[in-house]
Amino acid sequence: MDIAIVGAGAAAVGLLDSLAATADSPGAITVFEPSPHLWRGRPYGPDLDTVLVNAPPAIMSIRHLDFAHYAAWLGTRGPVHLDERLGQPLVPRALYGEYLAHTAETALATLREDGWRVRVVTAHVTGAARSGARWSLRTEDGRGHEADHVALCVGGGTPQDHYGLGGASGFVDDPYPLARILDQVAADSNVAVIGSGLTAVDVVVSLATRGHTGPTTLLSRSGVLPHVWQRPVEHRPQHVTAERVAALHQHHGAVALQDLIGLLRAELAETGEDFESFMAELLATMTEDPVRRLRAQLDAVDDSRIGRRVLQETAHSVGPYAWRLLPEPERLRLRRHFRMATSVASPMVPVNAATMMRLLDSGQLTIAPGVRKIEAADGVFRVRRDDDERTFDAVINAVNPPPQAIPRRAGQLVTALLADGSAELHPAGGLVPADPRLHVVGDLAGGGPFITSSIAGVAAQAARAAQTIVAAGDSGAMS
Ligand SMILES: Cc1cc2nc3c(=O)[nH]c(=O)nc-3n(C[C@H](O)[C@H](O)[C@H](O)COP(=O)(O)OP(=O)(O)OC[C@H]3O[C@@H](n4cnc5c(N)ncnc54)[C@H](O)[C@@H]3O)c2cc1C
Repeated sequence: MDIAIVGAGAAAVGLLDSLAATADSPGAITVFEPSPHLWRGRPYGPDLDTVLVNAPPAIMSIRHLDFAHYAAWLGTRGPVHLDERLGQPLVPRALYGEYLAHTAETALATLREDGWRVRVVTAHVTGAARSGARWSLRTEDGRGHEADHVALCVGGGTPQDHYGLGGASGFVDDPYPLARILDQVAADSNVAVIGSGLTAVDVVVSLATRGHTGPTTLLSRSGVLPHVWQRPVEHRPQHVTAERVAALHQHHGAVALQDLIGLLRAELAETGEDFESFMAELLATMTEDPVRRLRAQLDAVDDSRIGRRVLQETAHSVGPYAWRLLPEPERLRLRRHFRMATSVASPMVPVNAATMMRLLDSGQLTIAPGVRKIEAADGVFRVRRDDDERTFDAVINAVNPPPQAIPRRAGQLVTALLADGSAELHPAGGLVPADPRLHVVGDLAGGGPFITSSIAGVAAQAARAAQTIVAAGDSGAMS
């Protein structure tokens, strides 16, 4: 069996790791990746040491369900990067990239020992079409490549230029790698960061660590900041589990939002926590002053209540499965809470929260919601809000692309697959294979949840794709 893997980021690493553990009839694997930073994808390439992973080690394992895999690799490197409030190591993202590279190289070595022919082609895939029982892929240099299975591991989108500022001097359209862009920002300049999510936090923290002395403003429509991670506790969810969701599905033939809420309610009842006040606290995300909220959350890092922890964990583990079972009107209801859900499901790490708090307290950082318009004119940026107008020297785009966005680099390839009829666009975004020999791992997978995936989610998808590919190979070998 010949497998083509398009893209060499975390999703490809998870797929190779699973294939190395499960595939026993050798064939060939070709990985296509134009970037010189193999296995690191968009987030985990070389960058400033201040750009940290944003989750504790147990949920950063690229080996599905092996919660200790990454922590074991980290070993004695961990304590150097301890976030004392969280009680967990949080390493620079570039160091996490070394873990991904190590895992990929180990998987490739195992596959080779088992008789697989494995190669990496440094090229961008621009087309794919079915040709009889095989796939024919095309790379940018015009070369053709054959395969039996194609796995798209092309990642997510890049920030959108909502205000049409592209090309304006002083505008940074994509902040990563931060090492490259921060050198372009004068230390005393008046900087606006568009967005208030995790990318905006990365920008603010890196500016501060680089000695930025000028004012920084987070421009955002909502002004909502990510929640703050809490110290991990021993508790394992007993009710919000894939098994309980499957049982509900089997029993009622469908899963409703009320059923999922019922599971969470039961989970909280186990520890005597009040569900209503937990929900009220969550819903206040959209209305409460973000600075007050940040301060309260920093104070609650050690709070032993499990509510938020359960939601944060299960949003990425059980969430993708439950999402597919929900009727469309219920998904629509949830999508309306996108900002709040993202804020809870993708929290910031306490060390970054503390820096944000310090900057907010000193007045160097402010949050400006209600942005209507941003224009570049006369060498500055004019920002119009609901009730005022301000000017800035530089604007950094930290708007995250919507989940299931088509990455720019995969645009031609996706167009070719649609033209071939081997995939369809999902009405809510992303790509759905129309051929069992096509697999999508990562954010591009259509029909997936409305929040951006995490390493844990990508690892689960990769393990499932490996299982499907191996099963198809086994049935092919028997026929
Ligand atoms: C900035 C950032 C930080 C994140 N931090 C965390 C975190 O700390 N913890 C966490 O759990 N999750 C995090 N995530 C979410 C998730 O871990 C990452 O998105 C993860 O990198 C996804 O891996 P991927 O392989 O799907 O995509 P990517 O890592 O983006 O890799 C996709 C690869 O495909 C290649 N590619 C694209 N098109 C083509 C083509 N046509 N031909 C060949 N190659 C192609 C690209 O060059 C790229 O290398 C973060 C996401 C971002 C964007």
